[in-house]
Amino acid sequence: MEILRSPREINEMRKAGLLVWQAHQKAAAMLRPGVSTAEIDAEVDRFFAESKAVPLFKGVPGRVPFPASTCISINEEVVHGIPGPRKLVEGDIVSIDTGCKLNGWCGDAAATYAVGHVNPEVQRLLDVTRNVLSLAIELMGRCSRWSQVAAEMEAYVRKHRYSVVEAFVGHGIGREMHEDPQVPNFVSRPMRRGAGDFELVPGLVIAVEPMVNLGTKHVRTQPDHWTQVTTDGQPSAHFEHTVAVTEKGPVVLTAGPNGEGW
Ligand code: MG
Repeated sequence: MEILRSPREINEMRKAGLLVWQAHQKAAAMLRPGVSTAEIDAEVDRFFAESKAVPLFKGVPGRVPFPASTCISINEEVVHGIPGPRKLVEGDIVSIDTGCKLNGWCGDAAATYAVGHVNPEVQRLLDVTRNVLSLAIELMGRCSRWSQVAAEMEAYVRKHRYSVVEAFVGHGIGREMHEDPQVPNFVSRPMRRGAGDFELVPGLVIAVEPMVNLGTKHVRTQPDHWTQVTTDGQPSAHFEHTVAVTEKGPVVLTAGPNGEGW
């Protein structure tokens, strides 16, 4: 069961969300051919430490605990890429996902960036994925249940002949990074039976994070136990915001100081 947050609590989460946005600005400013993903991660890690925030991703349990403050996933890597010595090259697309906890409250956001010039079809994949997140946020102000938003997200991606990843979903967020409910970017099988749906009521705070693939929706785990790749090797994009439903409509908690988004 999801926990509803008071306006004061949402205000606290906004402070964490703003730091996450600032961390993304620092990471994005470093993106160029020749920079390693470990260098980007180190910058985000340093920024959170300076800001007295706790990086949320470091130590997440798995076969091996996640070792970094960011997930950095390149091209056919969908999510959960581990930063390391790999250097970016012109034409790569790079998904950066990061989150922090500030004064006990969490924020989580992701975006996919182009390194230099990418081919037009890949640029279109980035645009469609960014747009489907914007669409979802807008619909959160107009729909009464998440399944209605999810259906529109799925239809939008399908119209562009891409596929929505189903193996990973968004999540409730608050005191912990991953809370109830699960937030699929498609109408899940339980939702079709009327289960797993939830109401979009003031106080709900969720991380909405569509992952969209150019080819197949199917993913597999790499031998590092974390990195997810598309099974057909085609590129994948990922955009995420932490979003609160309020009396005045949806509020993006991981936006910039003037409400800037991706
Ligand atoms: Mg997330």
